[in-house]
Amino acid sequence: MIRWEAHACLPLHPAADFSPMDELHAAGVNYVSINVGMDMNPVPQIMSVIAAFRANIAASPERFRLVSSVAEIHEAAAAGQLAIGFDLEGAMPLLEQPEMVALYRDLGVRQIHFAYNRNNSVADGCHDEVRGLTPLGVRMVQAVNEAGLLMDCSHTGRRCSLDIMAASAMPVIFSHANPLALVEHGRNITDEQIRACAATGGVVCVSGVSAFLGTRTPTAGDMARHVAYVADLVGAQHVGIGLDISFRQDELNDNPPGDYDPTYWWPKSAGYDRAVQRMTYTPVETWQLLPDALRKVGLNETEVKGVMGDNMMRVAGIAWQRA
Ligand SMILES: [Zn+2]
Repeated sequence: MIRWEAHACLPLHPAADFSPMDELHAAGVNYVSINVGMDMNPVPQIMSVIAAFRANIAASPERFRLVSSVAEIHEAAAAGQLAIGFDLEGAMPLLEQPEMVALYRDLGVRQIHFAYNRNNSVADGCHDEVRGLTPLGVRMVQAVNEAGLLMDCSHTGRRCSLDIMAASAMPVIFSHANPLALVEHGRNITDEQIRACAATGGVVCVSGVSAFLGTRTPTAGDMARHVAYVADLVGAQHVGIGLDISFRQDELNDNPPGDYDPTYWWPKSAGYDRAVQRMTYTPVETWQLLPDALRKVGLNETEVKGVMGDNMMRVAGIAWQRA
């Protein structure tokens, strides 16, 4: 069974310790998408992080492999390596240049969403005014399709995400988002968004963040409840897992340089209490508990395998074709 972790965060710092990736691997994860930057991070910080992360991966070929295809994920699994790809959270690092998408792809980025909670020149964030996808945003969707990245709509405004899904020629995913019908939060997504995602052939990866699961100490059972909701709505073949664990290393300050106001990016009015400091996550061991938790909510073996990783393998197999 291939296990696909659609989103994980290390400190956005060149000295970030990669041992949390070994923990994920030990818990059974075969592929992980690691965040390398958000809209609030300037390009020099993102480049420094990508360079360091690539060096860490290259320095431990027995542990890690930076991959560009699902075939390489199977090869990595057979060789006992953790397959890794990078993701960007926001379009601001693209500098309003669609050709930047292919450059990031060449550096290992395999997945991108266009806005981190706030509006930018490309797309709307989920905690900002409603405008919709901009004309530049339409060109960016085409660039993502053509470069062979996974088009993600996490953190994106509702109407804008529908625009992106309508514009995309490839399946679209939510790499870490939960059903609004279960927990009222601006980061969670409506039934309309879930249906639109499934209609592209895409996958909604349920997040393990406490605020979005609606519980202070989230468990595999909470994850399974959210998976079951999406599966009942659109079919289990459209559900995946993106625990979104933030592996903090307190000695590393990875804040963006200069004027940086976390309450802008995580507004109190949207339900963030002291930004993300109070967020909790499902533990790494959730990966070992999830298959049984999914069986308990009624999924059959094929559906369990799909949610754990096969569904994202299917979508990546299509979206990464040109990678
Ligand atoms: Zn995120």
